[in-house]
Amino acid sequence: MPIYEYHCSNCGKEFEKLMGFSDPNINSPECPECQSDNTNRRLSRVASFSSRGSGFSSGSSCGSSGGFS
Ligand SMILES: [Zn+2]
Repeated sequence: MPIYEYHCSNCGKEFEKLMGFSDPNINSPECPECQSDNTNRRLSRVASFSSRGSGFSSGSSCGSSGGFS
């Protein structure tokens, strides 16, 4: 299932949500911050599963510390 990014027009909160294709709230899920449904789906990144270890080749080879956010 894809993860979408949303922006809450009510409080300005930006959040990510895992959505099923049949989810009725796919375009405007409830904001986790203020529980408003005045949210918009953002068309930003598309399922960046290969974000780890792409692009930059930073010196240390075994750098598996931190990273998760
Ligand atoms: Zn909100």
